[in-house]
Amino acid sequence: MTDKYTAVAEKTGMKLKFDPSMLRQKYDFERDKRLREDGSGQYKEIAGQFQHFIEDPYVDPAFKREPLFDEVDVVIIGGGFGGLLAGARMREAGVKNIRVIEKGGDFGGTWYWNRYPGAQCDIEAYIYLPLLEELNYIPRERYSHAPEIMAHTQAIGRKYDLYDDVCFQTEVTGMEWDEKSSRWTVSTNRGDKMKARFVAMSNGPLNRPKLPSMTGIENFKGHTFHTSRWDYDYTGGTCEGNLTGLADKRVAIIGTGATAVQCVPHLGEWAKELIVFQRTPSSCDIRKNAPTSPEWEKKLQPGWHKKRVENFNVMVSGGGQETDEVADGWTDIFRNMNAQMSQNPGMVLSKEETNILNEITDFIKMEEIRDRAATIVKDQATAEALKPYYRQFCKRPTFHDEYLFAYNRPNVHLVDTRGKGVDSITEKGVIYDGVEYEVDCIIFATGFEVGTNYTHRSGYDIVGRGSVTLSEKWAEGPRTYHGFFSNGFPNCFFMGMIQTGATANFTHMLNEQANHIAYVVNRALTGKIKSVEASRDAEEAWVNEVRDYAKLGDDYFASCTPGYYNNEGKPEISGNGFLTGVYGGGPVKFFKILKDWRDEGAMRGLQVA
Ligand code: NDP
Repeated sequence: MTDKYTAVAEKTGMKLKFDPSMLRQKYDFERDKRLREDGSGQYKEIAGQFQHFIEDPYVDPAFKREPLFDEVDVVIIGGGFGGLLAGARMREAGVKNIRVIEKGGDFGGTWYWNRYPGAQCDIEAYIYLPLLEELNYIPRERYSHAPEIMAHTQAIGRKYDLYDDVCFQTEVTGMEWDEKSSRWTVSTNRGDKMKARFVAMSNGPLNRPKLPSMTGIENFKGHTFHTSRWDYDYTGGTCEGNLTGLADKRVAIIGTGATAVQCVPHLGEWAKELIVFQRTPSSCDIRKNAPTSPEWEKKLQPGWHKKRVENFNVMVSGGGQETDEVADGWTDIFRNMNAQMSQNPGMVLSKEETNILNEITDFIKMEEIRDRAATIVKDQATAEALKPYYRQFCKRPTFHDEYLFAYNRPNVHLVDTRGKGVDSITEKGVIYDGVEYEVDCIIFATGFEVGTNYTHRSGYDIVGRGSVTLSEKWAEGPRTYHGFFSNGFPNCFFMGMIQTGATANFTHMLNEQANHIAYVVNRALTGKIKSVEASRDAEEAWVNEVRDYAKLGDDYFASCTPGYYNNEGKPEISGNGFLTGVYGGGPVKFFKILKDWRDEGAMRGLQVA
């Protein structure tokens, strides 16, 4: 009998070297092994006796300053790309009085914290680094390493005078709306109680490191840290490697996500012995980094950056483009699918057939990735364990030219926990399957808190109109209009992943959001508007639209191996999930909604006073 895959393959003239139905069964089997009742509850919050895991290793802890009780037009919470873009776009719109509040000791956000060896951006630098034309800057290589990215965040801070009134090493502890003055009071851990007409919040979707809730972490007598607080005093070296402090150390790393993929080659090179504890393998595709070509650079015409950013966005959203300008591992599936369609001009596929074609193209890509592991890794059992069996975008795809090779080193060992994870930690090391692996150092590459509610992740609550808190209002999930505005919380703008059109290139999404917020703030400041806030109706309609779309994505996410993309195997539509809470109409449609809304100029859906 012809199955659904064979039917579509035949219709589109594809000759497959594998059996798609068998692969689907294998994917389901691998997913089922990993599904667990506790979902996101399997992780522990870093607090109390684990607090040292999140202390800032890059600043002087004795830093002190006088508290602030003054007033500014705009407070921006977060000094990563989101906050910087909001600041830049507001400056361009003429806003003078801006103060950024940032927990770290400088700008950079995720790139401030993540300085582990090998840290690099997987998205092409020519589209990932924002404001390139404004800063007249061309990245040095196709995929930037962390120091260049952090330097770029600092350059943005300087260019837009955002250092002038910044509060570093400062954490917001609360925000309260004052009805009489139409001002927010923003409180911090440095005793500040500053007033602001507007607050834009870009707290970052992956800002709180997390640990697995296994027993015994506190008993470990060796050295331990999380990858987002890399301890170079212990390992020696820098972001570029040279980890000489590990020459006589046995090191364990727990986790094999995008972070581990980048630091394992350095650990393997320098540690006496490295044991990598894997639960689910990452898909690891070719990196193919290269220095920027001066010839290519010379040919760039004004407006090139926006064009390239948008071209990538349309490609990874499944849309057609004459050329795939970036043409890398992110756009492969879509480029291959478009190529397949163009070989059959005039062919019409139903929505279901298109989805099946997409799945077949995904199988082809993932077969390539599995073959890559088999070709590179010499020990066949290790190679087999490193093969990912799930669709490419079920988890964050990774791209690296040395990761798989690291397993050919005699001092590097993979302990594949077959989806179960490490059992516990002892005084001496790590236990899996009854075996104790004694080590000097345990590095947690176990990622960041996702799937909890917004106020928990941001670390403060917001008291809006009528003393209602945001945690109360969002008890059943976020409620926004276009992701930015929430009724009862005037002049307060959310940036990030909530009910918004998200794209793989985060800085593109943040730039669109920054433009939108800057427009609203500018309208309010120039139009003598005291407050803007989502109307109940507009908010209700948007929440319903987001949830309706989320239902459509349910099958896809349910078929995925667990991870933070699908709320650890429990896709839900309330909206706290990383991807399950975004606007399912996609970024291309969403950015157009925003542009049309601004062009209309009526501030539709907002209550303006
Ligand atoms: P992730 O959440 O992606 O990975 C955490 C890892 O820890 C997973 O491999 C997970 O396994 C594993 N893990 C969790 N619990 C256990 C356990 N009990 N035993 C063994 N293993 C366990 O975190 P990362 O820091 O790697 O990456 C976070 C995100 O940061 C990325 O997804 C990406 O968005 C971003 N990033 C971006 C980069 C870039 O190039 N732009 C580079 C690095 C990170 P399992 O998969 O089974 O859950």
